[in-house]
Parts: sequence; C-alpha cells; structure tokens
Amino acid sequence: MKFVLVDIDETMISVPKGINAASSAVMFERVFGVSAHEELIDNVGKTEQGIIKEVLHKVGVEIITIPQKAYKVWGEVTDQMLKTNPVRILPGMLEFLDALKNNKEICLTLLTGNSPWRAEAKLQSAHFDSYFKDPDTKVLSGVFGDMTAKRDELFDLIKQKAQPNDTFVIVDDSLIGAKMAKKHGAHMIMVATGKATGEELRAYTPNVFPDFGEERWKSAVSLIERL
Ligand SMILES: [Mg+2]
Repeated sequence: MKFVLVDIDETMISVPKGINAASSAVMFERVFGVSAHEELIDNVGKTEQGIIKEVLHKVGVEIITIPQKAYKVWGEVTDQMLKTNPVRILPGMLEFLDALKNNKEICLTLLTGNSPWRAEAKLQSAHFDSYFKDPDTKVLSGVFGDMTAKRDELFDLIKQKAQPNDTFVIVDDSLIGAKMAKKHGAHMIMVATGKATGEELRAYTPNVFPDFGEERWKSAVSLIERL
C-alpha cells in the first residue's frame, strides 16, 4: 500500500490568526495554572507534546508527562473558537484529497503535530475529517502530536506498523517536515504555503509546489501515483 502522510496546519488548512495562541492560553491557564501561549516559542512543525513542554520550560515549569487533559482541553477550546471563525482551506486541497481518496492503491493518513482532538477540530472545520476517518470506527487514521515530543519520531511510529511492501509519501509545508522525510528516505511533496519558502524547500526535494491551486493538484496527484 502507498501511504500518503498529510500534515494539517499550512498544508491543508490555515487556522485564523490568533486562534492557536488564544486556545493554547486557555489550556495553559486551565490545566497548568500559568499565563502562557504557544507563540512564546517557535512552534512551526513541532508536536503538541513538544510545544507544551517547551512553553512550560520557558515559564519555569518542568514536566515529564503531560496529562491527557491538556490535549483534550486544547482541542475542545479550538473546536469552540473555530465554530465562529472557521479555518481557511488552502488552494486545490479539496480536489487533491478527493482524487487520492478515489485511488484504491492509496491510503490517506495524517502525520501531524496536532493531538487527535485538535486535529479533529481543525479537520471538521474544513469538512475534511471524513477523508481520514475509518468508515466503521470513525477514528482518525494517523500519528499525532501527543505521541512524541519530536516530529521525526512520528515517522518511526508509522514505520513500526508498516508492512514490507508499504511506501510513504509525506505532504508537508515545513522545513522540519522536509528534514524528517529526508532522514527517513521517504518521498515528499512540499507546498510553500507556510513559513518556509519554495527556495528553502527545494534544498530537500524538487517536488515543491507554491500551492495546489490553478490545477496544480493534478500534477501533485500524478506525481504521487508515479512514485
Ligand atoms: Mg504544517
């Protein structure tokens, strides 16, 4: 099976400015009793577990194990905020996901720094959750930011479950994502819809798109089918 491992933020969707920080501030206050938010650190491409630990460290709190409540609260607050201020779907992403979902040799899977709760809130806001849900269990398929502190360890979790003939294509916007793909020898399709520029991403792969708009999703899909 060919697994297409898709990132969420700035790859499929963009969360309205301020919501990630505001929702994290509610979580840090409610769960840890501290005044903090995720933009106190460089959070691009990092996992939720890594972000929570790094932010807490910055405000003088050391923690080894993050309670599950932190991920749940962050997800719930995000969900509430997105109800009145929904995410923006990035160009061509709906068509890209539709085409891959209809290819029986491809399995769409999430590889995201979000926990499953926050991933679901964001995907539901875009009506993208069904692309990644098991039709029977309704559980999102993938590896998530509550599982490890480092993004490239998420790929180790994918490999642990892999069969000998499985192949992987990473779809991501970040330099951390490109480094992860390179380190693991995985194929990658990068979109310059986040902070990293096309030029920066091209240091890792020639497969860089400005976005999937103007029918560019078709080239990305046929590239994935040929890999
Ligand atoms: Mg991203």
